[in-house]
Amino acid sequence: MRLGALEAGGTKMVMGVLDENMKILSSTSCPTRLPAETMQDVTAFFANESIDALGIASFGPVNLNKQSDTFGSITNSPKLAWRNFPMLDNLREALNVPIAIDTDVNAAALAEATLGAAKGLRDCVYFTVGTGIGAGVLSEGNLVHGMIHPEWGHTVVARRDDEPLTRGVCPYHAHCAEGYASGPSMQTRWGVPGQDLPDDHRAWDLEAYYLAQLCLTAMMTVSPSRILLGGGVMHRDVLFPLIRKHVTQLLGGYLEHERLNDMDTYICAPALYPDSGLIGAGLLAKRVKKR
Ligand code: ZN
Repeated sequence: MRLGALEAGGTKMVMGVLDENMKILSSTSCPTRLPAETMQDVTAFFANESIDALGIASFGPVNLNKQSDTFGSITNSPKLAWRNFPMLDNLREALNVPIAIDTDVNAAALAEATLGAAKGLRDCVYFTVGTGIGAGVLSEGNLVHGMIHPEWGHTVVARRDDEPLTRGVCPYHAHCAEGYASGPSMQTRWGVPGQDLPDDHRAWDLEAYYLAQLCLTAMMTVSPSRILLGGGVMHRDVLFPLIRKHVTQLLGGYLEHERLNDMDTYICAPALYPDSGLIGAGLLAKRVKKR
């Protein structure tokens, strides 16, 4: 079985072919430009690979309502050229194979729960913390979509007293998680990119405080068996112990479960980086092929 996988990102498109065991047989990427020229590169790659099915792990927001006429279209993306672009229909016409689509973060959650850091678990939340903040949710073995799909990065967080910003950097919300904890928020707050700040800078404790609030909300709502945090900002190793410390403090001893006795495994890094999106897309392709 040759499974096509497309990780459609805001800055680049990663295309790959995987076998049924999720071994990556070939892959390439191209920068995300205007839709027509970008999709030309994408379809040219897959047209030469004789794939049996395709999975798309897409940037969002994307319409995932199968009953809708515009299922599989990008919706109100800040990338204006991509707004309302029919990602799924475009690839269906070009490739004529079964195609599945989900968010990039849901695909990553599926990959990690199948083969990675949450292997074998039926409940996990995967946060990505980079240019934006998003979350994929696997609940009782199912990827959660709901009415649209979760936009966890835009949930409200409590601003800390020592926060230098009076509001976060999100253009929509004064006090959302993305506004206070995304990569761009660090740049705005400290005047340099997060990667230029030393490990002992107070930036990391503040960052961890906001990310801990996301973890706490996850624990109190969908109750995951494990929480994974990936993305560019999370490459800083000092963050994990700080996040666990804040989660424990914010939790106040309220929840009891044996998993919470070992915070080092309850809140941890994904294992499949940088391939979790591609492998997730491959798993989506495998599911749609089986149907
Ligand atoms: Zn926001």
